[in-house]
Amino acid sequence: MKAAVWHGREDVRIEKVNDPPDPPPGQVQVEVEWCGICGTDLHEYLGGPLYIPLGRPHPLTGVQAPVIIGHEMSGRVVALGDGVTELAVGDRVAACPIVGCLACRWCRSASMAQCDRVAFLGTSWTGGALASRLNLNAYQCYRLSDAITDEIGALVEPFSATVRAVAQGKVSASDNVAIVGAGPIGLMALMAARIRGAKRVVAVEVAGRRIEAARTCGADDVIDPSREDPEKRARELTDGDGFDVVIECAGQPATILMAGRLTRTRGRLVIMGVFDKPAALDLTDIVYREKVVSGSMSGYGLYDETIRIMTDPRFRGDVLITDRIELDALIARGYHGLLHEKDRHVKILVRPE
Ligand SMILES: [Zn+2]
Ligand SMILES: [Zn+2]
Repeated sequence: MKAAVWHGREDVRIEKVNDPPDPPPGQVQVEVEWCGICGTDLHEYLGGPLYIPLGRPHPLTGVQAPVIIGHEMSGRVVALGDGVTELAVGDRVAACPIVGCLACRWCRSASMAQCDRVAFLGTSWTGGALASRLNLNAYQCYRLSDAITDEIGALVEPFSATVRAVAQGKVSASDNVAIVGAGPIGLMALMAARIRGAKRVVAVEVAGRRIEAARTCGADDVIDPSREDPEKRARELTDGDGFDVVIECAGQPATILMAGRLTRTRGRLVIMGVFDKPAALDLTDIVYREKVVSGSMSGYGLYDETIRIMTDPRFRGDVLITDRIELDALIARGYHGLLHEKDRHVKILVRPE
């Protein structure tokens, strides 16, 4: 079969690889329908390896580069390993990328994403979703309802991460919420906050097309820090308080500093951005105003809820999916589109053959 294989930095090849073997006990074989390109895929391409084991096997799976990449997938179950009873051949599923050791305190307390030895589909697992087929643990597969198309199914993984972030921020009906950065994750966080019932959701963004997308996705207001003082505008929009919840989705030193300041006294700052290096918050401000800061990284455990939420009409998959490509176009059209026409694209879906 054909697959996208990461060999090294700026060296991702579309090449022929062996088909996966029959699924071992506890696993299923899935034929991939669609796989989304994620920001972390671009990080691995340009600046990797970040999570891909290079030169030493992954402690849990033994996998190391070259690896088949891709983790935001929908597909169809085509074969069952021994002992799998919860899935059937023909089931349409979305996959959770997290594979834990099953033995540590985190794995045993339904927090597998926090496992110190965690492996991840598309970086350290035996298969990746930018290929026709792969084997997955049955527990990684979540059945898609008929109301969710295969395309939307490929958005379950990234959207689940934002469902987790708004839960982490305890967003409620009385909350003013700010989303800093209206890229793919920011737009999804915006929709997740709206569907959860936030009083008002405000996007903080400078790029024109992204501002428009944020409005289409239901932002009540947009703050453009290149044109106005964001803290002053935040106070105007929130009766002088600042935001009850701020979700940082940009991963830049300037945006995290600002996100902290936009958070009200005793408000909640949730950080989803992925940072290239350590970045600063105004810690005196955090201390004096008793702001709560947390990270949020995976929608593990929230997949069924996420799939249910995605049938809400306020979930706008049509705004999120900006291109659909074949596997052969991954670099030229997929990566380059996301890197060089950033404002035009949100999610690009790839269809392996
Ligand atoms: Zn992703
Ligand atoms: Zn574990």
